[in-house]
Amino acid sequence: MFKEEIGRRNFIRKISSAVLGVWTSGLWNARPSVAKTENIPTLEYRTLGRTGLKVTTVGMGVMNCSDSAVVLRAFDLGINFFDTAPSYMGGRNEEMVGKTLTGKRDKVFIQTKLSFGNEKRMRDSVERSLRRLQTDYVDILLWHGLDSKEEVSDPRLHEIMEKMKKEGKARFTGFSAHSRMATLLMEAAKVKDHDVALVSYNFTHSKDLREAVAQASKSGIGIVAMKTQAGGYRKEKMGNLSPHQAALKFVLRDTNVALAVPGVTTLEQIGECAATMGTTLSQREGDCLRQYQSFLRGRTCTMCGGCDGECPKGVPYDRFLRAMMYRDGYENDRLAADVVRNTVASQSAGRCSECPSCLAVCRRGIDIQAQITLAQQILGNKSA
Ligand code: SF4
Ligand code: SF4
Repeated sequence: MFKEEIGRRNFIRKISSAVLGVWTSGLWNARPSVAKTENIPTLEYRTLGRTGLKVTTVGMGVMNCSDSAVVLRAFDLGINFFDTAPSYMGGRNEEMVGKTLTGKRDKVFIQTKLSFGNEKRMRDSVERSLRRLQTDYVDILLWHGLDSKEEVSDPRLHEIMEKMKKEGKARFTGFSAHSRMATLLMEAAKVKDHDVALVSYNFTHSKDLREAVAQASKSGIGIVAMKTQAGGYRKEKMGNLSPHQAALKFVLRDTNVALAVPGVTTLEQIGECAATMGTTLSQREGDCLRQYQSFLRGRTCTMCGGCDGECPKGVPYDRFLRAMMYRDGYENDRLAADVVRNTVASQSAGRCSECPSCLAVCRRGIDIQAQITLAQQILGNKSA
């Protein structure tokens, strides 16, 4: 996708996005106060599919952030969409979002998540999320990390979410996915049970995913892009290469994407992300992305989807690779360990040791088997 897209100099933007130089959101009457010295971004809005919500094209992925000042800055800059989940920081992430956005609830959209289980556990989870977020409802409630198209069309999942809507706990519902995104989006477009899909989507992805995004968007699903940075390495680790704005702009060029929620942890990062709204990818930034692509090669899984479903034993190796990305790119060992622990516990992944070599082959030079072993060592679990 990267090569094709960057090579097209005369890219034609679809007119469906609206760049607003003044604050005219249906949500707010006035932009919140921003320090005079701060660069004020041009706010860009798109409609989040059939929800009709007017979202800023840059939202905030709060997952990795423990600093309320960063959330507050995002709000002050005009960002109106915040993504969190009960599992992030063991619930403290939702708590921080709730506390920080107290008194601003009617000015923002909050998205959180739910994992499938028995009905009581799911209800308890939603109630806890609402308490932590200090709200009576969330704007969007997503199934957290669906893996298969059977899950996407599972009537039991649909029924639960319909109840949440009827009871006023969620305005809109959907799912998130880190792997097999194209397959899941195509299924979602068919079944029409979901209002929103939060999917990994970045400059390393293939044409298949771009087409699935288009199809899902056409069916009315609001597309939210995550993992837009394909690894999230700090520029100091990359010889001061700074591809983050370029990576974000690249994803937002696809106007079938309503918004992106880059994971942000610092004031500098939120300013950088907000500043991409209403701007386009330059030739220089395209070159920068190429260099970034070279840096990532063989280093981390960018979730490009190239090797989806290649393990004949059904080992969820993509989760181990994602855990390694959290460790190396995000530098968040705890998050990495959580993913590995949940994967080992729920998927009994100790099957790799019987394989002379891994049948899943990375198109970007990663030794998948070695990464699985390393990921398991994070927890000292060497059973695979
Ligand atoms: S090593 Fe074998 S079991 Fe493990 S992911 Fe690769 S193919 Fe699957
Ligand atoms: S392991 Fe390689 S081919 Fe597979 S999704 Fe990750 S980057 Fe793509």
